[in-house]
Amino acid sequence: MNIYEAILRGLPMLRSHEWDDTKLHISDLGVMVDGCPRQLWLRLHGAEKRENHLGEILMFDAGQRIHDRMVEALRLGLQGWRVVDAEKPVEWQGLTGRYDVKLESDDGKVVICDFKTMRGAAFGYLVEPKPSHVAQVLGYVAAENADSAAIIYVDREGQNGIRVFDVDRNDDEILRLVEGLKVIAASNEPPPVLKPILERVERKQYDTIYVKQPWNCDYCRYQDISCKGALPPDLRQKEIAGRIRDGKYEPENDKYTEIVRGILDGDRLQEVG
Ligand code: SF4
Repeated sequence: MNIYEAILRGLPMLRSHEWDDTKLHISDLGVMVDGCPRQLWLRLHGAEKRENHLGEILMFDAGQRIHDRMVEALRLGLQGWRVVDAEKPVEWQGLTGRYDVKLESDDGKVVICDFKTMRGAAFGYLVEPKPSHVAQVLGYVAAENADSAAIIYVDREGQNGIRVFDVDRNDDEILRLVEGLKVIAASNEPPPVLKPILERVERKQYDTIYVKQPWNCDYCRYQDISCKGALPPDLRQKEIAGRIRDGKYEPENDKYTEIVRGILDGDRLQEVG
């Protein structure tokens, strides 16, 4: 008997909805804002990827349970509004999806709610909703001809509570993103690998430069299987690559020099940051 293996196999079976990797989803709208087009293309084309780690599966499961409790809380606590649908599948502009909750007021206003669970530490930076979350929920708003949206962030560790952001309907912008998704889907070639990022940290006498992967690669299940990623494995630790002193780049770590030079070309130093 292998209890660990059994739990690993059984947890994904608890998920109530099937997800078709080969279709465009309304949640893919976020790709056009801060996602990786290549990752989407690889998914649509059935590229090989790693399995989810147990930690990722547990996180999805915890998120789903929190989400279910939030919907129940809404049902019980609303005044002048009611929940008319939850987890309803929709199709719009060739995209499929499933929104979290649709609310309707006594005077006929319709609002789509989207719940997002996040780490407590991330609440410290949460001054506005993430653009990719806005794009996604506005896709549901357009699909359901609703008036507006609300994005509700829930601290999955509890102590920071919840934060709610209202979002105005914006069909023009969302239709533009849909067209972008369709261009990616129709392409015969995968979009380019994301570029590494230079991070510039100000010090007293000089600025330090680090080379990083975009966050997308850090969490990508295609990395090192179907895609080489923005940086080779031995360059993914955060290390000092060099310094900028008096406006000039001084390499410190030879293994990053070529990458830094490929991104910087003198005048663009000021863009780093
Ligand atoms: S590894 Fe990075 S560049 Fe490649 S598909 Fe994933 S996110 Fe995109």
